[in-house]
Amino acid sequence: MLKVIQSPAKYLQGPNAAAQFGQYAKNLADSFFVIADDFVMKLAGDQVLTGLGAHGIRCHAERFNGECSHVEIKRLITLLKQQGCRGVVGVGGGKTLDTAKAIGYYENLPVVIVPTIASTDAPTSALSVIYTESGEFEEYLIYPKNPDMVVMDTAIIAKAPVRLLVAGMGDALSTWFEAKACFDSRATSMAGGQSTAAALSLARLCYDTLLAEGEKARLAAEVGVVTDALERIVEANTYLSGIGFESSGLAAAHAIHNGFTILEECHHLYHGEKVAFGTLSQLVLQNSPMEEIETVMGFCQKVGLPITLAQMGVKQGVEEKIAAVAKTTCAEGETIHNMPFAVTPDSVCAAILTADRLGQQWLSR
Ligand SMILES: [Zn+2]
Repeated sequence: MLKVIQSPAKYLQGPNAAAQFGQYAKNLADSFFVIADDFVMKLAGDQVLTGLGAHGIRCHAERFNGECSHVEIKRLITLLKQQGCRGVVGVGGGKTLDTAKAIGYYENLPVVIVPTIASTDAPTSALSVIYTESGEFEEYLIYPKNPDMVVMDTAIIAKAPVRLLVAGMGDALSTWFEAKACFDSRATSMAGGQSTAAALSLARLCYDTLLAEGEKARLAAEVGVVTDALERIVEANTYLSGIGFESSGLAAAHAIHNGFTILEECHHLYHGEKVAFGTLSQLVLQNSPMEEIETVMGFCQKVGLPITLAQMGVKQGVEEKIAAVAKTTCAEGETIHNMPFAVTPDSVCAAILTADRLGQQWLSR
């Protein structure tokens, strides 16, 4: 099998990037269809539209209705065609960005992604999650290419709720361990090939950056300011983790995350918060050295990610619930089967329960 690495064609990051990307966007198209929800349009709409206008780019702004569904994608495509725009910009959170990617794919137009939070590593990837109009999961759309440009405005991201940045660190925490597992097992990544040394190195850099800068970045975000540490974490959460997961692959941590989505009491958690506990569980599953497990638990505790089931909201009927989580985790086609050894619901259940015990012990030191 071939080795494959893929990434967005351009990645920009820094304070006020949302107002400055016109100088690069003008090389992609002379007119853009800009989508954002009402909240984000008020927050960043002016910056984006004025910034693009300053470079002679014609813009039409349209309200995103909140759900990345085929109905909404079609509605926006109709409006885009009426306006004759030749590119699409998505500003906001995951669903807005996924919708922009889908519009660009169906209309074969350049796509610019402007996240206003750094809570997952999805923005750089060549995929969208499509929901029904009522918000239920429908399908993944996998695209032949990544966004043409990803723009991270750290001044906006620093002012977003801190818990979102921390959740992004949770998503990024799994990247190195899942990438390494996929590399060892020669698994096929989301990019459709085997991992490269380049993608694996970015995944490692992602982990090292979290350990070095995570706590400092959380503190900066608590006061809403941009520091070097916050810049490093935004890059780790978005770019390093994004390339790492897409071009090296996912394994146990994300599959365990998917398992936890069946529990009602975990619905209040962000993606990255469940992934953090999934990471700790993967370390137990693969019997990582205690020192490594303690490093991960220490990191989670410092930045505010869960390391026990109780912190995740799972307090009653634990064994039964975790058995069900483990079963879902091991469903056919799940990424846990990318681990370099055979995995069963029993071994996953044992790993989760032991991870919980390790977390409890760590917190009661
Ligand atoms: Zn993730």
